[in-house]
Amino acid sequence: MNREIETTERKRTVLVVEDNEMNREILTELLLDDYEVLEAENGQVGLDQLYARYEDISLVMLDCYMPVCDGFEFLERKREDSRFDTIPVIMMTASSEVDDEIRCLELGASDFVTKPYNAEVLKNRMMSVIRLRESSAVLGYLESDLLTGLYSKEYFYIKLQQLLQASGASYDILCSDVENFRGMNERWGTARCDEFLRDLADRMRKNIPGIVLGGRIGADVFAFLTEHREGGWNEVPAGLAGEDGSRFVVKFGVYEEVDHALPAAALCDRATLALGSIKRKFHQDISHYDEAMQKKQLLEQQIEESMEQSLRNGEFKVFYQPKHDLHSDHTGGAEALVRWIHPELGFMNPGVFIPLFERNGFITQVDLFIWEEVCKELRRCLDNGIPVVPVSVNASRMDFELPDLAERIADMADRYGLDRKLLHIEVTESMYIDNPKQIAETLEKLHTYGFQVELDDFGSGYSSLTSLNTLRLDVMKLDMSMIRHAAATNDYSLLRFAALLADGMRLKTVVEGVETMEQVTALRVLGCDYVQGYFYSKPLPAKDFEQYLAEHVA
Ligand code: C2E
Ligand code: CA
Ligand code: CA
Repeated sequence: MNREIETTERKRTVLVVEDNEMNREILTELLLDDYEVLEAENGQVGLDQLYARYEDISLVMLDCYMPVCDGFEFLERKREDSRFDTIPVIMMTASSEVDDEIRCLELGASDFVTKPYNAEVLKNRMMSVIRLRESSAVLGYLESDLLTGLYSKEYFYIKLQQLLQASGASYDILCSDVENFRGMNERWGTARCDEFLRDLADRMRKNIPGIVLGGRIGADVFAFLTEHREGGWNEVPAGLAGEDGSRFVVKFGVYEEVDHALPAAALCDRATLALGSIKRKFHQDISHYDEAMQKKQLLEQQIEESMEQSLRNGEFKVFYQPKHDLHSDHTGGAEALVRWIHPELGFMNPGVFIPLFERNGFITQVDLFIWEEVCKELRRCLDNGIPVVPVSVNASRMDFELPDLAERIADMADRYGLDRKLLHIEVTESMYIDNPKQIAETLEKLHTYGFQVELDDFGSGYSSLTSLNTLRLDVMKLDMSMIRHAAATNDYSLLRFAALLADGMRLKTVVEGVETMEQVTALRVLGCDYVQGYFYSKPLPAKDFEQYLAEHVA
């Protein structure tokens, strides 16, 4: 017989460990058609069988209470030998033994069935446990993470789910993260970092009280289910620092008294959300998932559920904020700023949704929509004899992943029959850091096609002179923090320097966030070209902007 067929036709072997002879016989009888059955009358005999035949055994059916060595001891001893890690165990319990079930799951059992058995249910459970294990082995998922000995992410989630479904007790989830682990990898190399993670996992197992399950759910992210801690987790557990004195920071996100009805991944998400809120915050190492975070999460959910429909329904609107030309003393341009008029959430400024859109990628669709709306508006003004000024549109880092961004914008301008000088694009230096080549190439193309490029938020913290030197720019927008700072301290030296720098690079300057006449006067003295801010106008809806243009353009 062909070997391949032989293996597929070969029956899998099941080890039945049960002291009650009648139960054992009934079960064996039930399984004989589909499986090779090994029998053991107590845990010790079962373990002996396991040692002798572990390569053949696909599943263990285990009773809880037996003389000599009971089911719990069997599980504990099975855990000590990693050769048995891939063999799943289904516990056989009486329906009244809920605590036992939980204990078994904690000890590594995969599932349980209650006596008396329903033959179909039993067979299905056995098959699904075996399949899960075999497909996991094929996919390379291991029950435990080889480096740390914690559960692998997949198994941690499965275990977590089973445990929470079976138990009504109160639990907490802790997720830990090593601050700047990437930097450590660069400094120390992989081998030392692996060693570090192994030690850290060990120290966590020893020092975090009440651990029920532990998993490694990311490269340097561990998750623990613990018994709920009265009084809460107020500080990072002690005893995590290494003996060699190497310095590192471990942060914790905590979700207390978890909701048993949520999927395991969602539970860990809550803890990691709390964790994310303190990333790079030097003074805080532990954070809790709380109501505010929950609200934010719900809001984000609501936003994500409605964003596409809203875009189709025209609920995103463009507002225009005039830029005042200090040389001519007239309006010399405008910036397009998105607003969302949401049927349930009301009027929203971009600060609420743009960061989320940048994370989920929706920003590009919004930006292209805004671009088109701006073209339409300019066309309408031109058709109705309203004077126009160049309008700049904010671009996002993700927009530059469109390989034909520049062509799309050029096509659009052409479709509306607009002079390309009427369209500016605002980019930030942080984009350049993320994706220098693509940004540089696209800006070069935009420039060649006749668009003007403005560098947004200059001086807000990302400034690197490299981008000024490398990118094809026309305008430098000085971030509003600069005028704020200058006005508050009456020290304009930084602004003066920025203006000189721009002049030296032959860039026009726009100062953002100008709110008073004194600021305007000071900026005029410094030789800045344009100012934008509430002193002249807030961002206006299209109709009001048209009115403004009619009154303020030379
Ligand atoms: P930004 O590009 O720096 O835009 C300037 C922000 O400053 C605008 O906030 C504007 O309303 C506000 N502002 C203008 N003058 C003053 C002033 O005198 N005082 C004060 N306190 N604020 C002033 P807004 O409209 O909430 O936009 C926030 C940010 O959202 C923008 O910052 C921009 O980064 C982003 N954004 C807005 N619209 C879009 C868009 O269509 N696409 C993309 N990708 N981002 C956008
Ligand atoms: Ca801008
Ligand atoms: Ca800005």
